[in-house]
Amino acid sequence: MRILLAEDDPMIADGLVRALRKSGYAIDHVSNGMDADTALVSQQFDLLILDLGLPKLSGIDVLKRLRARKNALPVMILTALDGLDDRVRGLDAGADDYLSKPFALPELEARVRALTRRGTAQSKLLEFGCLNYDQGERVARCNEQILDLSARELALLEILMLRVGRLVSKDQLVDHLCGWGEEVSTNAIEVYVHRLRKKLEPYEVRINTMRGLGYSLIKPDASRDAPN
Ligand code: CA
Repeated sequence: MRILLAEDDPMIADGLVRALRKSGYAIDHVSNGMDADTALVSQQFDLLILDLGLPKLSGIDVLKRLRARKNALPVMILTALDGLDDRVRGLDAGADDYLSKPFALPELEARVRALTRRGTAQSKLLEFGCLNYDQGERVARCNEQILDLSARELALLEILMLRVGRLVSKDQLVDHLCGWGEEVSTNAIEVYVHRLRKKLEPYEVRINTMRGLGYSLIKPDASRDAPN
């Protein structure tokens, strides 16, 4: 799950980035409307958290441009507590939800969960062998048993399951697992892969490594010719 946060107040932005990263989201932060617009044109996100009072291009204009491009990305706007007009204008312009500042982080996180669930309604359950991964709930199961995975391991499993039959390169993993400005080395990626591989050991699923090229999910009987 990749979230774009457009917020010019550094204190609010910092708190949000930290909280959402801790919950396992990849979060990218921009502090003005032009940068938000550019990011939305050039990259894929699962959710936009949009402050309406942004420099360079207002949040409302960012939202209007997004919807004019027929982009249905879920959008949550952040408004001032007394900003009833803003709220109405935001919802009219195509926002899915709003939150008034100041807000409690648990409430924001609950709204984010609800919106990202809605956004992935069509492709909610990913399946491979005995494994399934619910993108809305962010839970992986095998034969009804929930796998005990960290947020990063879940994100890793998600991208491997989204691309079954294809190789996922380390660069793609770095991209999927982290937002801008978050340092994750390819060595760290190897550690996450190693941990996830260990946790998948009891199940009929393996992570295959093609040295120098990337990773893919395979079923064990297909792995005989491709050790590790
Ligand atoms: Ca602002």
